[in-house]
Amino acid sequence: MGLVSVKDMLDKALKENYAVGHFDVHNLEWVQSVLEAAEELNSPVILGVTEEAIDYFGGFTVAKELVESLMKEKAITVPVALHLDHGSSVENCKSAMDAGFSSVMIDASKLPFDENVKTTKEVVDYAHKLGVTVEAELGSIGGKEGDVISDTPVYADIDECKQLVALTNIDSLAPALGSAHGPYKGEPKVDFKKMKEISESIQIPLVLHGASGLYPEQIKQAILSGTAKFNVNADNHLAFTKRVRQLLDEHYEMYDAAHYIREGRLAVKEMIKMKIRLFGSYGKAT
Ligand SMILES: [Zn+2]
Repeated sequence: MGLVSVKDMLDKALKENYAVGHFDVHNLEWVQSVLEAAEELNSPVILGVTEEAIDYFGGFTVAKELVESLMKEKAITVPVALHLDHGSSVENCKSAMDAGFSSVMIDASKLPFDENVKTTKEVVDYAHKLGVTVEAELGSIGGKEGDVISDTPVYADIDECKQLVALTNIDSLAPALGSAHGPYKGEPKVDFKKMKEISESIQIPLVLHGASGLYPEQIKQAILSGTAKFNVNADNHLAFTKRVRQLLDEHYEMYDAAHYIREGRLAVKEMIKMKIRLFGSYGKAT
């Protein structure tokens, strides 16, 4: 099976009360970990690539071909989507789609509302002709978002959510409701009541960015409040770094990078499997 769009995955998840994991990938090892974890747990999965990671890979086409070659080599049978995470411009979203990405996020949330609508609509018009799904954002997620770092997230407005969906025909929406990118400083506080209200008024799947570090109870509550996609990044980095740091501390003589990178990769895969079980998408590939 080739890459699939995110729409069917999320519509099914929303209806059946679970969520699909979006795992940001940065290199070969992360792609291997995500694909293996999803296949072993028979789960649909989304590989997210930020623009920063596109630079690291060496271009949109390199990222797409790496994912597809590994899917073929590993005989992956579960649904896999390749998604541009936080696309900052119409041009970058188009480049991702032209390279074969099956889903994009246009993040025009920093623009005034009217411009967010206009920019998002332009991406949707291009995407839907290609069968590509589009995610948009409203408000501002805490932590590092693009070049902006903020400790005070700006919550999404319900009326703007309704209007954005009606005017652009997006497939999913990431309303900022208190979650943050990167490790949380203190207790994560997410407005689940507002999440449910937004979900009920727009009737499309919601996306929660910054799902690393949320408590299992909060994950459950988010799913019951209309979230069908969780974006995970920080927890995978923390797992990799912890394992490699420990290994190098204990084995001063170790010098072959392949040995400790392999161990780090296993830690990432274990973390992803834990998240897939937590999100409830285990066994939902068919
Ligand atoms: Zn994000």
